[in-house]
Amino acid sequence: MGVMEEERQCSSLRAGADMIPLRLVAKSSGPLKILCIGAHSDDIEIGCGGAILRLAEEYPGCEFYWAVFNAVGVREAEARRAAGLFAGSRLKGPILKGFEDGFMPWAGTEVKAVFENELKPVAPDLIFTHNGQDAHQDHRLLNQLTWNTFRNHLIFEYEIPKYDGDLGRPSVFVPLRRELCDAKVVHLMDAFGSQRSKHWFEPGTFLSLMRLRGMECASDSGYAEAFYCRKLVL
Ligand SMILES: [Zn+2]
Repeated sequence: MGVMEEERQCSSLRAGADMIPLRLVAKSSGPLKILCIGAHSDDIEIGCGGAILRLAEEYPGCEFYWAVFNAVGVREAEARRAAGLFAGSRLKGPILKGFEDGFMPWAGTEVKAVFENELKPVAPDLIFTHNGQDAHQDHRLLNQLTWNTFRNHLIFEYEIPKYDGDLGRPSVFVPLRRELCDAKVVHLMDAFGSQRSKHWFEPGTFLSLMRLRGMECASDSGYAEAFYCRKLVL
C-alpha cells in the first residue's frame, strides 16, 4: 500500500468516525465521584492526567478522590502539588501513603486495609487504576485490590510506559484536544522535578503514547489516552 493510499484510508476513517460517544451519569443524586488510584506519585498523572483534565471540563461538579501509596519525602510534596494541578478545586484529599517502592506486595495486608478503610467509603462512580498486565509488581497489586474492593463499579485501567515494555491493546479511548495533552505534559514536567533525571521522563514519551492511542481511535486532534475495561454495563 502506498503512502497516498494510506493517507486516503486514514482521512476516510476520520471523516466517517461515527462511533457514538458514551456519557457518564452519576448513579447517586450527588456529584460524579471519580477515584484515582496510583502506586507512585506520578502514576495517576501519567496514566490518566488527560482524561482527568477533560472530565473536569465536561463535568464541572465532579469530585476527584486521589490515593497514592508511595508518596515519601519530596515525592509526597510532588504528589500533593500535582493532584492540585490536575484536579484543582475538585480535589478531595489527597490520601498519601508511605509504602516502600517495589515492596507493596509484601505489605499486602496494610495496603488492603487502606482500600477497605479509606477508599471503599468513597463509593465512587468511576475508578482509574493500574492495569492488571502491568509489569510493575506494585501496580499489579493495586489493580487486584481495586477489583477486590470495588465489586460492581466502572473501572478504567490505565497504562504506564516503561523500560520493561508492557504496552498492550486497550479498548477504551478518551480523545484529547492538543491543548489538554500539552497541559498534561507541562504539569508532569513542572510537578515531578525528582523524576526528570530518568531517561524516559520527558515530553516526547508522553506525547508519543497519546499520539499512538489517538491514531488508534481516529481522534480529531490525533491524540488520546487509552484504558482497559473488563466490565461495562449499559
Ligand atoms: Zn508506578
